[in-house]
Amino acid sequence: PAIIVAIDGPSGTGKSSTSKAVATALGLRYLDTGAQYRAITWWMVENGIDTADAEAVADAAAKPEIVSGTDPLAPTITVDGIDVSGPIRTQEVTSKVSAVSAVPRVRTLITELQRSIAAGAEGGILVEGRDIGTTVLPDADLKVFLTASPEARAARRSGELKGKEATDLAATREALLRRDAADSGRKTSPLAKAEDAVEVDTSDLTLQQVIECVVTLVEE
Ligand code: C5P
Repeated sequence: PAIIVAIDGPSGTGKSSTSKAVATALGLRYLDTGAQYRAITWWMVENGIDTADAEAVADAAAKPEIVSGTDPLAPTITVDGIDVSGPIRTQEVTSKVSAVSAVPRVRTLITELQRSIAAGAEGGILVEGRDIGTTVLPDADLKVFLTASPEARAARRSGELKGKEATDLAATREALLRRDAADSGRKTSPLAKAEDAVEVDTSDLTLQQVIECVVTLVEE
């Protein structure tokens, strides 16, 4: 039977790198749900919609067509046929994505999309996000919740951003904690560990160690 793995946690925990590597190792499809929320946010910005206006965001939410390619070695994301894998990583989108993601209509639409992708993944799928184990796929075969200290997370984030956008560690840490607080504090499907999720603190682990740990959990 198709196995379903849910990996949740905040950013800077190694979630995306771990998820892609585990999916590849186990021959699973891969879905980055953060990229979907970023894609809808990118579309709002591109179309001049005020992302702080929840009603305007809700009214427009069904307009963009978001398509995710689920090969863990080469995941893709398009909006109305446009490849947005680069543009969804800008600081502008990153600073606005929490507000857009908090709009219930946005969550309903994206959650439906996620469930249909998971249901169509014949060999099984690994889905990463914030609310996968609690809301999107509560019947997942394995749920993992990744954590790390704010220091470790900020260091990883600025490592990722280096060269792309000038950033210092303190500013990165602050932006990251602000996004966490927004993601954890929203009313609909907040970032949270499912009761039956296995928590893995990645602060003092290498990426390779986290990957091995999750692969072992799936195989158990
Ligand atoms: O994982 P990533 O940092 O790309 O996620 C971007 C944002 O998308 C998060 O900060 C959060 O606001 C939103 N998100 C969400 N639910 C998910 C995945 C991401 O609300 N399952």
